[in-house]
Amino acid sequence: MSAILKDHLCPQCGGLLNAATSIDGEWKPEAGDLSICLECGAFLVFNQDQTVRKMAGEELKKLPATNPIQFQQLMDVAVLCAIYRQTVKAQTVKREPFKN
Ligand SMILES: [Zn+2]
Repeated sequence: MSAILKDHLCPQCGGLLNAATSIDGEWKPEAGDLSICLECGAFLVFNQDQTVRKMAGEELKKLPATNPIQFQQLMDVAVLCAIYRQTVKAQTVKREPFKN
């Protein structure tokens, strides 16, 4: 389910973030929950106020050992987000007017 968030910006690409969707059904983001920016694919961590910060490289490096299930879910979602971005790009190219 999706949670509506107050408007804030992705710390990586500056894209508007105002909602988040969980793979686990009903959910509200809590501090420490992991997320991915749909625009740029940055790995993010929720803050206490439901904004996000960029995940530190060291955090990502440790995740497979500290929480392998969460790491696998993050990687699965990262792949889905990458496919989504490629699909959107392909559709954007198709919509461009023909140029002579
Ligand atoms: Zn982003």
